[in-house]
Amino acid sequence: MGSLLNALVRLQAVEDRLRAAKARLVRCKRTVAIHESRIKAEQATLEAKREEIKRTKMQCDRLDLELKTRDQEIAKYRAALNTARTNKEYATLLTQLNTTKADNSKLETQILELMKGIEAEEAECDALQAQIEEHRRQLEQIRTETEAAAAKLQAEVDQIQAEWDEVASTIPPDVLEIFKRVAETYDGKAVVEIEQGEGRSHSYSCGGCFMGVTTESVNLLMTKDEIIRCPNCTRILVLGKTQAT
Ligand SMILES: [Zn+2]
Repeated sequence: MGSLLNALVRLQAVEDRLRAAKARLVRCKRTVAIHESRIKAEQATLEAKREEIKRTKMQCDRLDLELKTRDQEIAKYRAALNTARTNKEYATLLTQLNTTKADNSKLETQILELMKGIEAEEAECDALQAQIEEHRRQLEQIRTETEAAAAKLQAEVDQIQAEWDEVASTIPPDVLEIFKRVAETYDGKAVVEIEQGEGRSHSYSCGGCFMGVTTESVNLLMTKDEIIRCPNCTRILVLGKTQAT
């Protein structure tokens, strides 16, 4: 292979390293975002729980007020019992008194249940709050570590980019444009080797899309330093090690 095709093979190798390094940098930066969104979600859960506690407390207060009103009613019935003039009046008052007492007992149970619920929710809130604080501490540590790692990865990307620019400067602009365009289409894979079939057939195929490549194309690559692209996928074809030697 001539100097142009060799340069393209080298550029492809640098392109692979450049893309891998950039991907590592993105992943590294994403770590902080993932932790930040986890804390955000926990914070939202905590706020919803606190809202729920507030509502339950208000309900408790309402029931408590109702209980007090009924307690006053009971006191009134008791007083009336003492002044009842007939047995019938006495019996009616007694029934009312007992009904109200039974209702109050139900209310008391209900209030107790609600208060128990509030206590449990508050304990959960405390635990969640502690967890959020722990995650915040972790995040700060991760942020520091990530910043250092990201700086290192960025330096690596810059260095590989410089290498890329250097190799690219040896390639004519029109060919370089083709390389970039095809690389964009195929996730960085612009240059592929021609593959040779097993057996006597000597059939050739594109290493990218595996469609057949003519023997003329292979012969041209062996004799000329020009780019040949796969007629199917448009990738730049180069000779594999077996054909090149
Ligand atoms: Zn192809």
